[in-house]
Formats: sequence, structure tokens, C-alpha cells
Amino acid sequence: MSTTRTKLHDMVQNIWWSWNPVALDLFEELNPAVFHASGNNPVIALREAKGIVLNDPDFSKRVDAAYDAFQAYMATPLNAEYPKMAYFCMEYGLHESLSLYSGGLGILAGDHCKAASDLRLPFTAIGLFLREGYFKQSFTNDGWQEHQYPVVNPADMPVSLVKDDSGAPVIVTVQVGDRPLNLQAWEMKIGHTVMYLLDSDLESNPEYLRALTHRLYSGGSDTRIMQEIVLGIGGIRLLRTLGIEVETYHMNEGHCSFLTLELLNEALQNGLSMEEAEAAVRSKTVFTTHTPVEAGHDRFDPSLTLYMLRTVRESLGLSERDFLGLGRVDASDPYALFNMTILGFRFSRKQNGVSALNGELSRRMFKDMWQVEDAAKVPITHVTNGIHLGTWAARPAQEFLSKHLGDWQNRAADPGLWAAIDQIPDELLWKYRSSLRKRLVEFIQQRAPQQTIPMEPNFDPDVLTIGFSRRFATYKRATLLFMNEERLLEIFRKTDRPIQVVYAGKAHPQDEGGKQLIQRVFWYTQHTELRGKVVLMENYNMEIGRYLVSGADIWLNNPRRPMEASGTSGQKVAIHGGLNLSILDGWWPEGYKGNNGWAIGTDASADIKDPKIQDPEDANFLYDTLENEVIPAFYNRDNNGIPTAWVARMREAMKTLVYQFSAERQVRDYIEHIYKV
Ligand SMILES: *Cc1c(COP(=O)(O)O)cnc(C)c1O
Repeated sequence: MSTTRTKLHDMVQNIWWSWNPVALDLFEELNPAVFHASGNNPVIALREAKGIVLNDPDFSKRVDAAYDAFQAYMATPLNAEYPKMAYFCMEYGLHESLSLYSGGLGILAGDHCKAASDLRLPFTAIGLFLREGYFKQSFTNDGWQEHQYPVVNPADMPVSLVKDDSGAPVIVTVQVGDRPLNLQAWEMKIGHTVMYLLDSDLESNPEYLRALTHRLYSGGSDTRIMQEIVLGIGGIRLLRTLGIEVETYHMNEGHCSFLTLELLNEALQNGLSMEEAEAAVRSKTVFTTHTPVEAGHDRFDPSLTLYMLRTVRESLGLSERDFLGLGRVDASDPYALFNMTILGFRFSRKQNGVSALNGELSRRMFKDMWQVEDAAKVPITHVTNGIHLGTWAARPAQEFLSKHLGDWQNRAADPGLWAAIDQIPDELLWKYRSSLRKRLVEFIQQRAPQQTIPMEPNFDPDVLTIGFSRRFATYKRATLLFMNEERLLEIFRKTDRPIQVVYAGKAHPQDEGGKQLIQRVFWYTQHTELRGKVVLMENYNMEIGRYLVSGADIWLNNPRRPMEASGTSGQKVAIHGGLNLSILDGWWPEGYKGNNGWAIGTDASADIKDPKIQDPEDANFLYDTLENEVIPAFYNRDNNGIPTAWVARMREAMKTLVYQFSAERQVRDYIEHIYKV
């Protein structure tokens, strides 16, 4: 028993378990009630393990097997030909029990860390130790979103405090305005990837600064800029203190761009001239932008910037004007805000957007900065996002694929592997789809009554199921389906060809527009004709996400083009035989081939239209496509009850989308085109 326990202790400290069901299942079995009550937390389940389970010989055997698999994964060395990377991001979505993320950016970063580990890329990730993370969502009687911030205890997380050789916590210091701020760091292992999370909650700090790193995207711009000083400048100082060798720094979105100022400072201290120092910084960093609209970029008031970064500016020996110029397109414009994206662009050797369309849009948006007329001359390229299949493939999907495709996890980016989907008979594919839908329906039936405002879903495992879940940012238009209520009700009234729709998602606590969208969806769940058929799930997280993307037949995605930089939730459905019904925005123009899902509209340009025109146009296209294509394809069955046209599309989706939009392909692209010098 003691070795079983030791092995579990070893395993729990590396979140390899987060994408390996063989391990995660064991932690759940240790104490299922505690595991579920804690939000699927393996650390807590292990602490509360039942002796009877630990003593069970069969259980021990399975622990041995999982442990061997873990050891084998960790035994293969890092690839010495790859550059040593440090990756900076404000948020990381790694597992539902780790509240370090709010949405797509975090999920993308988490998947990137895991794929980097799978590829044996030397990779260190830097983030913030968000003890209160994002927020827990609930609804009032009237569907208004409310927020709670449960505080996590570090002892409940798979992290350890970073200490020096004498056993004392490692502390780095940054200056915010007039004050020094001390930071400690927590280490988390993600397979081969090591992550450091900076934490300002120390007694040596002034009371009001202790909570600085507690919450994601809360507070005003003074909190935000201080968090970004911690992430960028504190992150570099931590890497130096720990003696971690880095060849290239990847700034994932502008929140971490201050790291370039610290690198610049180091270069100047080493005796380089300003010009040489700038070139030296540029040679070591790359920058990824995810934000397709001007207003979305992280920007700070000039006086706030000067105040908070005074000591940094002074040690760089820059005038106020020259310093602010680093974050301005036009360095001589005294009114322009300090833009973190501009800072990142200025000091990076490579810049990229996260889909072809997003790259094009970014080139247009930033041509002033490169002082060219022709957007095509702007050097911003793109690497389209992908998803970590081990994380997002549902357990039954992993089993199905292993049975039919063999060792798929290690060959996921190989199109040849997925061509073998053609060998699977229609009946089996349809059975696969139906079983995953049934699993989702059961999950909804079980969860909905437990919500603060209980839902009474009347879902049927054989009915066409539409899923929509993501952040409720207004541009994502969560209520587009309801835009023309009469047309929608007509669709619902066709009882011989029924549909059911499930929604989930959080709005930013300060986004009134987003909260209003949630409320409208909530109201529709109460509509006499839609009750039970339209459901809104509470407290969207990675677990709910996994059920939805694996169970939905149709994944609805209707952002206002071209606002969706990439979007990744739709990429998660293909491996489950789900089909996208999506605006041609973000990744979908690259994924859509005419027969592997559906497009809403025909335009895939980066042009911006007046929402008053675009919204009703898109809504009508959506109704037409549902009525004329999606619903008939689902319900037209052959003699064996198989919807052959539907299954043909499923097949195409699985063959064409999974490998292309995998995080493995994505990180390989980064290595080849962005990271390698
Ligand atoms: C995949 C995912 C997202 C991203 O969804 P988009 O459609 O790309 O916005 C956000 N949140 C969670 C929990 C996810 O799993």
C-alpha cells in the first residue's frame, strides 16, 4: 500500500494526469464524493483517500500501470535541437480544478504547454498565481449573472513553493510606482513543461498589494498595469534568479510585453548602446496577437504608465516622451495611450496572428506602425490555433479511436492516420455519435436540477442537439439564434424533426452587455414553447466544455466577423464527429471545405460591416441553413436508420479537421516558423 500511495503522490504533482484518463480515473476512485465536491481535484481526493481503495490489489495494479506510463513519458529526453523557450501569458486553462483561466486565450496557452511537453520542446511557462482565479458564476431568479470568488489553498493545488538551496523561498522584487513589491513563485509541472506562477501575497508587502495577483481581469487599469509589471518584469527576474537558460521569449498577447523593457535594461547594463540593445532584445523575442479590434488591445493612460514604470524608464535613461513612444504607433503623438501590443511588436523578431484571417486583419490594422501603404508588406504572419487532443477528446472517444486507429495520440498531426476513418462503417460512426450525444444528455439531466436556478431539461438522446458555449462577449452574439423569434419557433414546432439547444458561458463581471445576453438566453429557457428544449448551464468551465463539445451534433458559432481571432471550441468537436455550423470567421475559413460542416454566410473577408445589416443577414442565413440543410441531413435516414448524408459529413470533418487543428500541428508550426532562428 505504501508504494501505491507514494506513486500516487509522485503522479499528483505533475498534471500529466490532466490529459491522461488512466491516471485521473484513479484519483477519482480514491474518493469519488470528495473528488466531485472539490471540482475534480486530484490533490484533495488523494489526501482524503479511502484506505479500502488504496489496499485493493486490483487498484494497486492499475496504479502501477499508470505510473509506468507516466515514467515512460517523462523518461524521454527533451529535443536538444529545439530552442529553449520561455512562454509568458496572463492566463492558463489546464484543468477545471485549476482556476487560472477565463476563456479561449487561457485554454490556448494551456494546450500549448501540453503540446510543447508532448513534443519535448524545452519550455518554461510564466504566469500569475491567481488564488481566486476568475469567478464562480450563478444566476438570480431573473437570469442575472452573479459572481463569487472562492479562495484556493495552495495546499490543495499540485504546486510547490520555489525555494533556494537553503530552503528559503525565492523572492524577486519589482518596483510598482514608488513601492518595491516582493514576489514569491509556485512551480507546477505539466509533463516536461515547468510553469512558474508569481504571487504577491506576502507579509512583507503592503496590505493593499498582497491581493494584486489574486484575481484575473478584475479591478481598474492601475491593478492591471501592476499585474502586467509582475508578469513581464517579475517573470524575467525570476528566470534569472533560478538560472534558467532561455533562447527565445514568446509573448502570448500583450499582457506580458513589459518583459521587453527588462530585457532592454539587461542589455544596456551589459554595455550595449541603445540601438544595439534594442536589436538584441528583438533577436530574442516573438509576439502573438489575438485581438482583431483596436479597442481590444491592452492600453494604458500615459500618466499612469509613467508613474508605475518610473524607475524602469530612469534606468533605461529615456525621456518621458521617448519612453511612451515605445508603446505608440506615432511616437510623437502626446495623447496616444501606451499600447502593449505596439510594445510587443516593436521588440520582437517575429509577429503572428492566430488564423489566416486574423493575420490579414492585423496586417491592415498595424500598417502605420511599419509605415507602409500596402498591408501585404507588414511582416505579421499567422499560426492558426489548434487544440490538445488528449485534453479534449472525451474518454469514450479516446477508446473508440484507439480501437479503430491504433496509436492515434502520437500520430495525431498526421493526415494519413485520419484517412483511415474511411475504413469505419457508417453504422459504427453513427453509433459513436449517438452514444456521445446520449452521454451529454445524461450529463445535462443530472446537472441542470442542481443549479442555483434549477433547469428542467426535457432532452431526448435521439434528438438533434445544438451546443453553444464560450465567453459571453458581445461580439460572439450568443442570442443570434433568437433574433427572429417567429422563425425560430417555427423550427421548434416541427415535432417530427425536433431540435434541442444547450448554452453555457460566463460574461466578464464588468461587461453589462455580456450579462444582458446571458439574461436573454435565460429568458428564452423559460419561454413556454422552448422550456426544456433550450437550456443554460451554470458556471461554464473546462468540464462542462468537454461534455458539450463531445456530445453536440452541431456546434454553433456565430461571431460578428471578423472579430473572432481564431476560436477553438469548434475545433474540439470534430474528433467526436460533431459538425460546425459557423460564421466564416477565425479558423473556419481554413477548416471549411464545403462538405465537412456548414458555413453561415458566404463571405470570408476581413471587411467590417454595419451590425444593423450584418446581424439580421447572418440570422436569416442561419435559419435557412438549419431548415434546408442541417435538420434534413440529420433526420433523413436509410433503411437501417442511418442518416447517410450526415455521416458522410462527419467522416469528412474527422478526416480533414482533427490533424489540421491540433495543438501538435500548431506547436510544430511555431517551432519551424517562429521559434527557430
Ligand atoms: C475552448 C474553450 C473556450 C474557447 O471557446 P471559443 O469558442 O474559442 O471562444 C473557452 N472556454 C472554455 C472553457 C473552453 O474549453
